[in-house]
Amino acid sequence: YGDASQKIDYVFKVVLIGDSAVGKSQILARFARNEFSLDSKATIGVEFQTRTLVIQHKSVKAQIWDTAGQERYRAVTSAYYRGAVGALLVYDITKRQTFDHIPRWLEELRAHADKNIVIMLIGNKTDLEDQRAVPTEDAKEFAQKEGLFFLETSAMEATNVEDAFLTVLTEIFNIVN
Ligand code: GDP
Ligand code: MG
Repeated sequence: YGDASQKIDYVFKVVLIGDSAVGKSQILARFARNEFSLDSKATIGVEFQTRTLVIQHKSVKAQIWDTAGQERYRAVTSAYYRGAVGALLVYDITKRQTFDHIPRWLEELRAHADKNIVIMLIGNKTDLEDQRAVPTEDAKEFAQKEGLFFLETSAMEATNVEDAFLTVLTEIFNIVN
């Protein structure tokens, strides 16, 4: 892949969901701008960022949506999910509760989004391994059972962030081609 500046062959909408403070906005900042901030402010207003990549010689514009601090249960509106072809379902590996809420997010996603949506479960903050509260195996098992892709990431250290998006975007690409 690479960055393309000419014509766009595809636009794929991908949504980020999961509890507050798991790192959604920083994962997006890392992917879209290769930036990271430790004191990221709560996201204000529905926002998306784009990055254009080349997948199998086609230019694909990824339009990644970030929640507007609507992470309370059922606060994310259906407009957020509308037209989404991919989703990153994020928890924090140091906060068990954020993983325990994943089935809820998945249920919401399945209620609002297209049934063929490509979903990646992400355990973020692997740089905080010494504070880990969610075993990798638990998440792997859950992902397998639910038919989700799964990766652990660190937005801070830029570990697997690129991989997570590329896996989802490539899968979407293969579905539409
Ligand atoms: P959001 O509410 O899900 O959008 O979470 P944010 O992206 O705002 O991140 C919440 C906090 O976690 C911020 O202080 C971030 O700097 C921090 N954070 C995000 N990703 C990571 C990571 O990979 N490692 C560490 N150590 N902190 C992170
Ligand atoms: Mg945010």
